[in-house]
Amino acid sequence: MLVKHLQTNSSQNKLELKKINKRFDDTYAVHDVSIHVKNGEFVSIVGPSGCGKSTLLNMIAGLVEPDKGEIIIEGDADGNRLGKSSYMYQKDLLLPWAKIIDNVSLSLRLKGMGRKEARSSVKDLFEIFGLEAFMYKYPFQLSGGMRQRAALMRTYVDGKSLLLLDEPFGGLDAITKAKMQDWLLEVQRELRATILFITHDIEEAIYLSDRVYVMTDRPSEIKEEVVVDLPRPRNRHLKKDERFTSMKEYLMEKFL
Ligand code: ADP
Repeated sequence: MLVKHLQTNSSQNKLELKKINKRFDDTYAVHDVSIHVKNGEFVSIVGPSGCGKSTLLNMIAGLVEPDKGEIIIEGDADGNRLGKSSYMYQKDLLLPWAKIIDNVSLSLRLKGMGRKEARSSVKDLFEIFGLEAFMYKYPFQLSGGMRQRAALMRTYVDGKSLLLLDEPFGGLDAITKAKMQDWLLEVQRELRATILFITHDIEEAIYLSDRVYVMTDRPSEIKEEVVVDLPRPRNRHLKKDERFTSMKEYLMEKFL
């Protein structure tokens, strides 16, 4: 069974960025960004479209190099970052010709595992991700929310202890999105994953996170760090709580 607790030592930083800068032509996509994510923590970066959030994740994943600054993953500042984290995009990017179980176990196949073994190592996870009935279906047979769950499951199976999620619910309708948020909270509680989550939705950031970084448009900097000291486990009623609404109001002010 592939279920494993990803958290090791909660006081340690899984990820640390020190004064990261990245320019495209003459424009800063990211300017002097310093953030950290502790083991087992759920941290969001919230900001308007085009402020550099995806560029930041691409740098953490090792797909883009910063011009200046340091990216430290599990204490390692010098190593190759490719393959140190599991990355999920807004689009699910499932292979349309492969069954869900084969999509989910893709990273195991790429490591050389046979199909039978790869399938049996992921089977038990389908219950946690609520997709037991869809194991042998193709992506086109699933709803948008289910496809995102399958994509997240594949990201998890990839086995890295740092998950980078780039607006995974951005393309979903409001009701599906709310359900997915609740489901993600449950999955995170179960698996104790360390998550860096990108969104432009302030409510979503507060609801899911332990801490929220506010990123501003041009120059793209971290304007504020907010600790979300609301109790867990959380459910949707929290969104009506006065502490929640005043935090939302406070963060909204940062963008107006
Ligand atoms: P966000 O994810 O917050 O929407 P992005 O990180 O995608 O923002 O983009 C930040 C800025 O950097 C945008 O103005 C975008 O056009 C620019 N940008 C991103 N990638 C490139 C690239 N490869 N070449 C040139 N400009 C880029």
